[in-house]
Amino acid sequence: MAKRRPFLALLAGALTSSLVLTGCLGNPPSRPGTTSSGSSATLNAQAASKLETTTISLGFVPILEAAPLVVGVEKGFFARHGLDVKLSKQSSWSTARDNVVLGSGGGGIDGGQWQLPMPQMISEGAITNGKKVPMTILAMLMSQGNGIAAANTVKNANLSVNLKESSPNFFAAFSGKEGRKFRASYTFPKANQDIWIRYWLAAGGVNPNKDVELLTVPAPETLQGMKNGTMEAFSTGDPWPSRIAKDNVGYLAATTAQIWKVHPEEYLAVRSDWVEKNPKAAVALLKGLIEAQMWLDKPENKDEAAQILSSRKWYNVPVSVLQQSLKGQYKIGANGTPETDPKMGPLYWSSDRGVISYPYKSLTLWFLIESLRWKFYPGTVDTIQQAEAINNRVVRDDLWLQAAKELGLPAKDIPTSPSRGKETFFDGTVYDPANPQAYLDSLKIKG
Ligand code: CA
Repeated sequence: MAKRRPFLALLAGALTSSLVLTGCLGNPPSRPGTTSSGSSATLNAQAASKLETTTISLGFVPILEAAPLVVGVEKGFFARHGLDVKLSKQSSWSTARDNVVLGSGGGGIDGGQWQLPMPQMISEGAITNGKKVPMTILAMLMSQGNGIAAANTVKNANLSVNLKESSPNFFAAFSGKEGRKFRASYTFPKANQDIWIRYWLAAGGVNPNKDVELLTVPAPETLQGMKNGTMEAFSTGDPWPSRIAKDNVGYLAATTAQIWKVHPEEYLAVRSDWVEKNPKAAVALLKGLIEAQMWLDKPENKDEAAQILSSRKWYNVPVSVLQQSLKGQYKIGANGTPETDPKMGPLYWSSDRGVISYPYKSLTLWFLIESLRWKFYPGTVDTIQQAEAINNRVVRDDLWLQAAKELGLPAKDIPTSPSRGKETFFDGTVYDPANPQAYLDSLKIKG
């Protein structure tokens, strides 16, 4: 590592000057719905000469899950391994999906950040009008850092992670009083944020299909809707829940870390044709990602990370909001006081349950089991066997293990099984990936 320092020092200089230039010149023209932000770091020519390609085009959505991609570009981690990662901001999850179907050759993207099971369902053609575009899940980007925000109009309900305890019979009472159901939204249906709010409601004895109304709404409109009183809750990734609390539009009812500690969140997935054509470049991408995740997890780097992400080029969000989210500073509950617990905030590298970045098949499978629970994808995911087969086709951990080996990671950071073992939720429910049927059987409310 010591030998790399002179190169990195040069790189840092190059980064600073080219960032200024990027700021002056603005972004190049891009497809509608996306804003491109190219890498400004100088490629390590020696590393680049060994790769099949030196560029990849990835999409991102400006929430904390994308931080390792942005940091990988801005701190030169990808460039160090010879790869020029071109990041483009996606205006919505459906735009990202449409762009990956096009591929970079068609003016779209090769892959990027995804909620699950989007990559699996793009592979199966279930969310792409039947067009199957095989995708490969390469790594987990982040754990935790998501939450359910509630509007101040329902402050008296005192919504918390445990609804049975904090707000018994609230949802039925709401319908009776308002003449309509409680409305909650997410930015894309049948994936993480829809799954989190459903898990939370159902664990509280509330049937998400009957007792509330769930809607797909773009994030900025949700803020307005919560102000206007047209919706009561929003399930999303930070910085949105923190922003809602900071703007005094609402409060953080529950964090996903409360629902399931060290849960799987969003993933890096790339078109399989790109990965198969460029396996060495895929390993280089993973090496840069792993280093970015390790960097992001260090307490001393959180302020710098917030600075980087806050810029107009990336998230265009106040630094203070990002600092709080990144450090795990949350005010939870209608009458909560701010508390700081980094273990409950976004995790990028290490955790009590091992390495975050490695794509455990047991965790990616859970999103398909949950899809089965809610009957999200009839004709595609109707049985556990189908879910397992799809999961095995889409997730590749061999490239991650290769990247970890080439980086010389210590043995403790290299998982030896594709299963993380049994998982326990806040309500005591256990998901044993070796027996998903037992998990499904234990759930009282289903689709
Ligand atoms: Ca998320």
